[in-house]
Amino acid sequence: MTETVPKLSSAEIAQLRPETRLVQGGILRSPFGETAEALYLTQGYVYESAEQAEARFKGEDPGFIYTRYSNPTAAMFETRLALLEGAEVARGTASGMAAVTASLLCQLKAGDHVVAARALFGSCRYVIEELLPRFGIATTLVDGTDLAAWKAAVRPQTRVLFLESPTNPTLELVDIAAVAEISKAAGACLIVDNVFATPMLQSPLALGADVVVYSATKHIDGQGRCLAGVVLCSEKFLTDHLQTFLRQTGPSISPFNAWVMLKGLETLPLRVERSQASAATLADRMAELPGITRVIYPWRADHPQHELARRQMRGGGTLVTFEVEGGKAGAFRFLNALKVVRISNNLGDAKSLVTHPATTTHQRFSPEARAEMGIFDGMVRLSVGLEHVDDLTDDIARALQAV
Ligand SMILES: *Cc1c(COP(=O)(O)O)cnc(C)c1O
Repeated sequence: MTETVPKLSSAEIAQLRPETRLVQGGILRSPFGETAEALYLTQGYVYESAEQAEARFKGEDPGFIYTRYSNPTAAMFETRLALLEGAEVARGTASGMAAVTASLLCQLKAGDHVVAARALFGSCRYVIEELLPRFGIATTLVDGTDLAAWKAAVRPQTRVLFLESPTNPTLELVDIAAVAEISKAAGACLIVDNVFATPMLQSPLALGADVVVYSATKHIDGQGRCLAGVVLCSEKFLTDHLQTFLRQTGPSISPFNAWVMLKGLETLPLRVERSQASAATLADRMAELPGITRVIYPWRADHPQHELARRQMRGGGTLVTFEVEGGKAGAFRFLNALKVVRISNNLGDAKSLVTHPATTTHQRFSPEARAEMGIFDGMVRLSVGLEHVDDLTDDIARALQAV
């Protein structure tokens, strides 16, 4: 057996193109020289001596201590995604919500204030609107598209600004660079939930954000198997806030899930490119179909923020939202008539999935609150998968006849 020395250093890999970084980045090869990344299912690690154990706990020996702290498979996933995102460091978590919650709680304390866009993934909104105030952290929700509202909401105690863009399910955009400026001026930390854009289509750190979070459950797995999340940030944020919080509270990523995500990253560009091309085609085709009253897709010229989309994104994404005639009843008839596209609240899967936000993901809001968020009863959200776009078109056109 030979000790395998990498032929490319991390610095050299960082110079390579994104697709190459996603295949070659972060590999920790064992003495067996395996081609595929190894799955290290272990809770702990043995030390050569008591002295080594002491040095490791002191941080003087760089090895692993315990999988709640870190794990070689998790480390490969984290390094690979950090290389793609252009972040100094990444830390995997058990789910996207663990990443969101950790990125907030690790840096906040009673008396602090958070400003967030109102249009948020339901659980993110719960954490910000209901959970944080229970611990004495004040929060203000604003219309994310209104820059004056962000500015007006900032107080001397404001520590965090939080947003997602495009938003779920209305695919509204927030001007990340403009909010980053407001955040910097306030001395706050801007956290961006980048799930809908994926790391392929939008780079919030380059636009001025301080922290990026993902639900890797979505496009990074991309085949509907495991839950995972990631926080990407600077070395300083990791040392000052995140590291101790993660180690002591334990929302760790399981090595198995990290391995699935690590392998998912290899094909992320191919999958996102294909799903996005189909989404763009479907958006244009659906706009012509009878029974559909409105199509929302950030790359279309009729999207109210398509100029911003072209400025801060590299593509329109893999989701299309639209409204069918006949309100809830029309939407239900449409969903029930689909055969290739299946009903599920998940997204970013190889399988195309459709959901009716008003009765599922946004059910707990009052009709008035939903209207304020632009979510109407005929609205349908489609996550475009990897099926042939013509089969998806046929399925949708046929189901529309039921409306
Ligand atoms: C799914 C999702 C989350 C939560 O991720 P989990 O992996 O389900 O915990 C957070 N934000 C957005 C935008 C999501 O789509």
